[in-house]
Amino acid sequence: MRVLSGMRPTGKLHLGHYLGVIKNWISLQKDHETFFMVADWHALTTGYKDTKHIKDNIRQLVIDWIALGLDPEKSVLFLQSMVKEHAELFLLFAMITPKSWLEWNPTYKDTKYNLLRIHDLELTFRGGLRDLVKEFLARQPFRVEDTEALEEDLLDVIAQAFVKALFDGKLDKEMLRKLNVSKREFYEVDTYGFLGYPVLQAVDILLYKAEAVPVGEDQLPHIELTREIARRFNHLYGETFPEPQALLTETPRVPGTDGRKMSKSYGNAIYFADSEEEVKKKVMSFFTDPQKLRKGDPGRPEICPVFMYHKLFTPHEKVEEIERDCRSGKLGCVDCKRMMWEGLETFLRPIREKRREVEKSAHYVWDILTEGSRRARELAQRTLQEVREKMNLP
Ligand code: SF4
Repeated sequence: MRVLSGMRPTGKLHLGHYLGVIKNWISLQKDHETFFMVADWHALTTGYKDTKHIKDNIRQLVIDWIALGLDPEKSVLFLQSMVKEHAELFLLFAMITPKSWLEWNPTYKDTKYNLLRIHDLELTFRGGLRDLVKEFLARQPFRVEDTEALEEDLLDVIAQAFVKALFDGKLDKEMLRKLNVSKREFYEVDTYGFLGYPVLQAVDILLYKAEAVPVGEDQLPHIELTREIARRFNHLYGETFPEPQALLTETPRVPGTDGRKMSKSYGNAIYFADSEEEVKKKVMSFFTDPQKLRKGDPGRPEICPVFMYHKLFTPHEKVEEIERDCRSGKLGCVDCKRMMWEGLETFLRPIREKRREVEKSAHYVWDILTEGSRRARELAQRTLQEVREKMNLP
């Protein structure tokens, strides 16, 4: 089975990425034909303004992939922008994808929600002004050919000025907060690229005629859209693309140091690039059961993020004992965290060493990506040739 998946290069990987995604990819590469893509063009859909770190982010991502066990001998590791066929098929798919399919995409809809509030507001504002504008025009001494058209034009101009004032900060900040709108979302996210990114995702999959795509539940609408685009193309030009299946993967909720979901934006993540000392410091700062204030207090391992890590990284025979001693109060949180750190380090140490080794070479990552992209491109060119023939393009 041909499997494809990808990641945006947004920085170094943390434990959450490994447990949620990469661990599954590593097991897939054993038995399937696997393509893993660094989705650098996707990184631009929301991060187009600041591209300073994109090359370094690509490099760091691939270093992490290799250190964690993705094997360029077994999987095709490639860079999206090195396979220009993605751009050509994106253009062709853009021609056949109804705009409404994209507007119903939940990610877009959620973002657009804020903007719709603005449109509601604009409509209310226009409604309230209409009588005033009518009255104003009626009082003018000059004759107007088309009063209704002028009325609409005036309302347009005033309503636009109102929305602009809203975003320029001339209106009450509290009001903006209540409306749940922000300048950034209005101007920066509502781009053509952001609306169209699910089409680019469909391209990423269909260009390689992938049969399966490992995804979390939140990505299911994108796979469905890919299937719809494939169906539409096949219907218009003849059978060309297989409809890919979603390989639903259970993504465990990996807590960060503060107990919330591990995420770069919360500043609670443990990275594979962290030194031993950095990891120790982070582990010792982990949130625990808030009711267990000191050694002797009984604890509740089932709600403690540290205990979740014990289940993942501490030898099984010790985990039961930790659970018992936490509940009885015999074990204190400081000792418990130290034990967890030891187990975690046993897992992290070889990855860190491999990371260092890969990082030493300035070319290694680019060589891997160049070779992987060459292999990916062969397949992509074959698909594009077929697409052009089906569409009667020269
Ligand atoms: S003893 Fe360990 S498992 Fe129990 S609350 Fe403290 S850190 Fe958590």
